[in-house]
Amino acid sequence: MLKSTLKKYFGYPEFRPLQEEIIRTVLQKQDVFVVMPTGGGKSLCYQLPSIINQGLSVVVSPLIALMKDQVDSLQAMGIRAACINSSLEAAAIESTRRLLQQGKIDLLYIAPERLMMSNFQAFLESLPIDLFAIDEAHCISEWGHDFRPEYRQLTYLKDRFPKIPIIALTATATPVVQQDILKQLKIDRARVFKSSFNRENLFYRVQLKDDTYRQLCDYLNAHLNDSGIIYCHSRRSVDALADSLCADGYLALPYHAGMEKVERSNNQEQFIRDNARIIVATIAFGMGIDKPNVRFVIHYDLPKNIERYYQETGRAGRDGLPADCILFYSYGDKRKIEYFIAEKPDPEEQQIAFEKLRQMVQYCETHQCRRQVLLNYFGESYPHSDCKTCDNCLRQSERVDATREAQMLLSCVKRVSERFGANYVIDVLRGSRAERIFQNGHQHLSTYGIGKDIPKKQWQVIVRELEKQGYLETKLMNGQYPVLCLNKNSRRVLFQNETVYIHRFTETGEQAVRREDEFDRELFERLRVLRKRIADEENVPPYVVFPDTTLKQMATQYPTTWSSLKQIEGVGEVKLHRYGPRFMKTIVGYCQQFNIRTPKLQPTRKTRQTRGNRMVSDAYTLSLLQQGMSVKQVAKARQLKEETIWQHVAQLIFKGEPVDPDELMQRTKFNTIREACEKAGDVGLKVIKADLGPEISYGEIRVVRAYLLMQERKK
Ligand code: ADP
Ligand code: ZN
Repeated sequence: MLKSTLKKYFGYPEFRPLQEEIIRTVLQKQDVFVVMPTGGGKSLCYQLPSIINQGLSVVVSPLIALMKDQVDSLQAMGIRAACINSSLEAAAIESTRRLLQQGKIDLLYIAPERLMMSNFQAFLESLPIDLFAIDEAHCISEWGHDFRPEYRQLTYLKDRFPKIPIIALTATATPVVQQDILKQLKIDRARVFKSSFNRENLFYRVQLKDDTYRQLCDYLNAHLNDSGIIYCHSRRSVDALADSLCADGYLALPYHAGMEKVERSNNQEQFIRDNARIIVATIAFGMGIDKPNVRFVIHYDLPKNIERYYQETGRAGRDGLPADCILFYSYGDKRKIEYFIAEKPDPEEQQIAFEKLRQMVQYCETHQCRRQVLLNYFGESYPHSDCKTCDNCLRQSERVDATREAQMLLSCVKRVSERFGANYVIDVLRGSRAERIFQNGHQHLSTYGIGKDIPKKQWQVIVRELEKQGYLETKLMNGQYPVLCLNKNSRRVLFQNETVYIHRFTETGEQAVRREDEFDRELFERLRVLRKRIADEENVPPYVVFPDTTLKQMATQYPTTWSSLKQIEGVGEVKLHRYGPRFMKTIVGYCQQFNIRTPKLQPTRKTRQTRGNRMVSDAYTLSLLQQGMSVKQVAKARQLKEETIWQHVAQLIFKGEPVDPDELMQRTKFNTIREACEKAGDVGLKVIKADLGPEISYGEIRVVRAYLLMQERKK
């Protein structure tokens, strides 16, 4: 019964963890407290009961700006929802009040201050209320990061409506705040549901700052269709970065508290509506961002503490699809924050802030699984040693003996009398001809040039590692120049031959990025265009029509009938009728154009396991070839390299598809390659290629060889 309601309205086949239990408890009229990370699916826990309950459910939310979208979203699913807040005109409020009196609303969103107006209270008392839901419940606690004084009034809610159950929901992981919420709302006996704070679909990665802007652009270029948030430390850097990105052709808009309110909310709107791909923001941005398809959250500067970081990264991937959380880290950033903390007047506050910063830095510098560090911070243990979705886990870290390098470095620090910074010391080690070194006569030191075989970058890693492991220190000389200094531990390395290990990383790890899931990108883009058109017609954000998850499923399963469309996650009954025909028309047209026979292409267990959307991709190439296109034409049509299409062809041949390379290339060419292959026997492609010369590509050789192999097998 619950499940059929879930499918009918929301279009989801299954509950997420805890949802069903929570909903059952709510329906039993008990007070409930839900602690779940962002994207866990909290809203459903009061939305679904509101459909089942006879009377009205009242949702208190601080996010006035978001209410309209939420209500639109619910109405699009056929749920009788409405909102009342100060941004609405009197006439609109009046008509909603009438609907409420007539019992035509199941779910009402209001701002907390409204609830405490005495005439509104009297009005509520006249209505059959089944449930109060307090969303973002941490706003009631002064201990939390988002305290809202108007939430304090909710303390009286239980006194005024003692019989009506309350469900409080938050994504705040701090136990102190959680306790405070129960106390303030006077629901100490509430049943508490806490889920893990692990966000499985988020990929965590820390990158050392090194030409950060280029690093950022590299990422953005590799994810051209994705939308995301870039957080910066200050308003000034937000403006500067947004400007540079725009100048370089990225659709990026700024957002910070120093902007005009109109412009700010306009920028937010553009982002939510998928008109702007990127928002560059200070931490002022976020609360109230319900956009489910944020594919990346990039911290261009170091956050102050892990709570903040977790919360900000939490805005990525609400829809459950993979998303990236990338943090650019530098020592300079750390010092900047230390400087700010040092300005704080209260010594106790200062100490706490320093400690939190220390933990943030530890997160950046750890070789441990990042997920583990985050979860440990919130008092949760992560049961696996390898999460497979953080840079440290992907990167094969190996411990290497770096005693010799450490000795060189430390003794060089000593020879320059502990009066120079890391770069200078490294220059001496590498035998640089910099003027400064000669002025100081350091070209005569015994350590001059002894480390020239080791690249500068690697020396920098060694310096950082030694500092981290306590073999080396940075001090300020004359209160301003950072210089490298030795300590007790360094002497052990220099004079007692203590072994020093460092982690050296293999290259692959640096490129570690989120895995891409498989779907027909071409069709997805078309569906996205259609969705945007409908959303603009209806004046709602695109995700209100369908979330990305739904479009991706459509672009893997090619539903062309009512019954198959209904199977797709996120397609409830109302949306099926409202949007189904237009989506089906696009899918049918697409399948006809590319000759996709839908049942055949439905992913089976096996193909899902094989990497990439190769299957769909091959099939698509096959259908184009069967229409008589040449390899060149297919490449052009698909905007892929010819070489890639040849690879598809080889793949198709191996699968036993009816492709004849004889028809795809000139007969003479085919014969030449064939002869070369037969002559060469079982050797690598390179040898054959060398034999054939530049006229013939690897792909063509691959195809002929695949063909010959299959012929061989048939015999
Ligand atoms: P939270 O409020 O906890 O941050 P939401 O309630 O916004 O999370 O839910 C996050 C996303 O997950 C939404 O897009 C929502 O539609 C989706 N969702 C919720 N429950 C389910 C479910 N049972 N199956 C599939 N998707 C779900
Ligand atoms: Zn990990």
